[in-house]
Amino acid sequence: ALVVRQQMKSSGRWARAMAIVKEFEEKCGTPDAKLKQVADAMTVEMHAGLASEGGSKLKMLISFVDNLPTGDEKGVFYALDLGGTNFRVLRVQLGGKEGGIVHQEFAEASIPPALMSGSSDALFDYIAEKLANFVDEEEKIFHQPPGRQRELGFTFSFPVMQTSIDSGTLIRWTKGFSIDDTVGQDVVAELTKALQRKGVQMRVSALVNDTIGTLAGGKYANKDVDVAVILGTGTNAAYVERAQAIPKWHGPLPNSGKMVINMEWGNFMSSHLPLTDYDHALDVESLNPGEQIFEKITSGMYLGEILRRVLLRIAEEASFFGDDVPLKLKIPFVLRTPEMSAMHQDTSSDLRVVGVKMKDILEISNTSLKQRRVVVELCNIVATRGARLAAAGILGVLKKMGRDTLRDGGPEKTVIAMDGGLYEHYTKYRKCLENALSELLGEEIASSIVTEHSNDGSGIGAALLAASHSQYLEDKSR
Ligand code: BGC
Ligand code: MG
Repeated sequence: ALVVRQQMKSSGRWARAMAIVKEFEEKCGTPDAKLKQVADAMTVEMHAGLASEGGSKLKMLISFVDNLPTGDEKGVFYALDLGGTNFRVLRVQLGGKEGGIVHQEFAEASIPPALMSGSSDALFDYIAEKLANFVDEEEKIFHQPPGRQRELGFTFSFPVMQTSIDSGTLIRWTKGFSIDDTVGQDVVAELTKALQRKGVQMRVSALVNDTIGTLAGGKYANKDVDVAVILGTGTNAAYVERAQAIPKWHGPLPNSGKMVINMEWGNFMSSHLPLTDYDHALDVESLNPGEQIFEKITSGMYLGEILRRVLLRIAEEASFFGDDVPLKLKIPFVLRTPEMSAMHQDTSSDLRVVGVKMKDILEISNTSLKQRRVVVELCNIVATRGARLAAAGILGVLKKMGRDTLRDGGPEKTVIAMDGGLYEHYTKYRKCLENALSELLGEEIASSIVTEHSNDGSGIGAALLAASHSQYLEDKSR
């Protein structure tokens, strides 16, 4: 009788867990019709954000980049790329026409977590110090031409209100950063002061978002690039807009007639987004409640955390992992997206990788194959929603650009430069995004829209933009 009662108890728990999973799956649903609504909402918000400052949750920030690299860029330039958890310093030697990228060296360092919520000076001192070391090392090997100041392109992957190509104030931090005294400050001035404190002679010639850097780097490699999308720790997109289609721009019309826009689409919000209770809870408990809602359901910083929250719920409400709720499961952000990706893409028949991760990260041992299958299913639900929404975002941008329909001359070729760890490493996510995008565009148009991985384009792009905005080049092409 005891055995029977226990079996009934466990099958009741299982049914309860499955009901929670099913409900979650339904709430995360992204049928094509919904994605089209999301895309349309994205297009509408783009118009609103371009019309007036504060006109939309989409900030549609003016980048002051009105010319993308031509290939004529020449000389040695530095770049500094500060974005998610790592930052990179680069030294790029550009050979001008035909020369291309002659040399390229880089160094990478991680940002100590304490610095992500410390003081502005501490963060910028740390960065300046790493840059100083890099410059010293490099210039032991490659001598800087005498009499010329070093110039730097600064990729700063947060929302910035630019005041010129080489200045701009931080609107707010995103991702894991929260350093109050940087908000409202000119980040170029902050960096320049830190460089001076470290005795580094260097001028910041261009301040760019990572999407803008990726767009510039992408264009340098392929002239059909007109859009850039980052799917990494955070997410965002940039594209080339007609200057005349930007009512809020009151400056002189650029000769090119173009202006690159940093959309800050991570902050996109729409009633059409499939949001769940888990997303609301994640948002409320985040460093930036109410902000970056699109980012919180599509990007790398959050996917693993959403998964953790669902697992915790089935542990608490359906004793999914036994009578006790695994303690590790209660720790926010213990389950990172790379681990989720590894579990999701576990091809072994007994889901060995899932078993190992559950044990190593969550200290849940002896999971059954049945349980591990549920974990994989949850990974799939979370990743599929994110990837398909990212595709809808891209469709929204293409619509705004008029690249989503056939034109007289046939479809115009559009290349989307893509970067970010999520896109690069989470294959199932990337495939799902690509499939959704073709599905939404339809066969005929899908063939003229290409997504292309732009490997570390953002750093090189910043160096290229530093070059084209150099104060020291004699043969300035601008
Ligand atoms: C930031 C963007 C950035 C994106 C990708 C977002 O959190 O707001 O500026 O482009 O992450 O790095
Ligand atoms: Mg990056």
